[in-house]
Amino acid sequence: MKTYKIAVLPGDGIGQSVMEEALKILDFIALKYNINFKFKKALVGGASIDKYGVALSKETLKICEKSDAILFGSVGGAKWDNLPIKQRPERASLLPLRKHFNLFANLRPCKIYESLKQISPLKDEILQNGVDILCVRELTGGIYFGKQKFQKTKAYDTEIYHKKEIKRIAKIAFESAKARKKKVHLIDKANVLASSILWREVVGDVAKKYKDVSLEFMYVDNAAMQIIKNPAMFDVLLCSNLFGDILSDELAAISGSLGLLCSASLNDKGFGLYEPAGGSAPDIAHLNIANPIAQILSAALMLRYSFKEEKAAQDIENAVQKALKLGKMTKDLNSKNYLNTDEMGDAILEILKEQE
Ligand code: NAD
Repeated sequence: MKTYKIAVLPGDGIGQSVMEEALKILDFIALKYNINFKFKKALVGGASIDKYGVALSKETLKICEKSDAILFGSVGGAKWDNLPIKQRPERASLLPLRKHFNLFANLRPCKIYESLKQISPLKDEILQNGVDILCVRELTGGIYFGKQKFQKTKAYDTEIYHKKEIKRIAKIAFESAKARKKKVHLIDKANVLASSILWREVVGDVAKKYKDVSLEFMYVDNAAMQIIKNPAMFDVLLCSNLFGDILSDELAAISGSLGLLCSASLNDKGFGLYEPAGGSAPDIAHLNIANPIAQILSAALMLRYSFKEEKAAQDIENAVQKALKLGKMTKDLNSKNYLNTDEMGDAILEILKEQE
């Protein structure tokens, strides 16, 4: 029997409740596919600050190091907002985890389900050709990590990219596209930025090894427009850290609810941290109305990318899609007729059980 060790870090706010639903789904997948998941729960974020005084304790980090993947909930809340910025839950747990495990590739799928078109801010005629985009964002380089200085009358940030950083994220984008619609758009600003010119050169070279995948270059300002005007044209968006940060949030906005969006952050050994794209949603924490789908789909991404259990990942994704098609929705998707967090998890589980 295959065994996978998973560090389970629910975090704060809605993290606990949505994580429970994801674990419920994984328990069933374990039975169906004869897999032994060894879950090890640990505190992170505000919950860890309350107990250990730090957002990421040595104990939690050790558990993550001994695991094959990290399933992360979300962190943060008003209780910890007055701490110095470097000690706050998000900054002091997620950034160190990304750095420690060298999680340079951030993958965020954005799919607009047929049954949820009405909650997207985009018009029907724009959505008629479907939206299924994967944003592949470089996560550990670029302007967020370059030299910066702030003075009263002058400030600057520096965007530095090395060839090897571009090459490894480009490979992830092309490998992903191979299993999808075989199209990569490199999003850049090569008309003004030197770093973008290097991106074009390196990505162009990588593309030569993927003859079945098409590559197009697009300026980021145009991409921001096209995502709203014609999202069906995109398959995989390959972005630097800064451009990926902005465009992935635009993708979140067009999907209609943060409760739907999952993400994977990977290193070159296939180790990953999997988490919902949204935060700890303190406004709805403890109300049992959070949407567990983002967490459940994050677990599916873990099965796909870290454990190579593609069939199991697809089972979960199909079950989520079917649940939505059957009108099973949480309050963020349908405020008039909705299921609570645990009921939504149960609905998805029941559909999974009915699948072949
Ligand atoms: P948020 O994503 O927590 O919430 C924004 C809105 O989306 C809220 O109205 C919330 O109710 C809703 N929402 C989010 N997830 C949902 C879900 N699963 N189901 C239903 N509705 C959902 O963003 P925020 O309010 O700006 O931040 C709240 C806290 O989360 C802050 O402390 C922030 O620092 C933290 N945060 C953490 C992460 C992370 O852990 N990765 C990411 C972003 C924000």
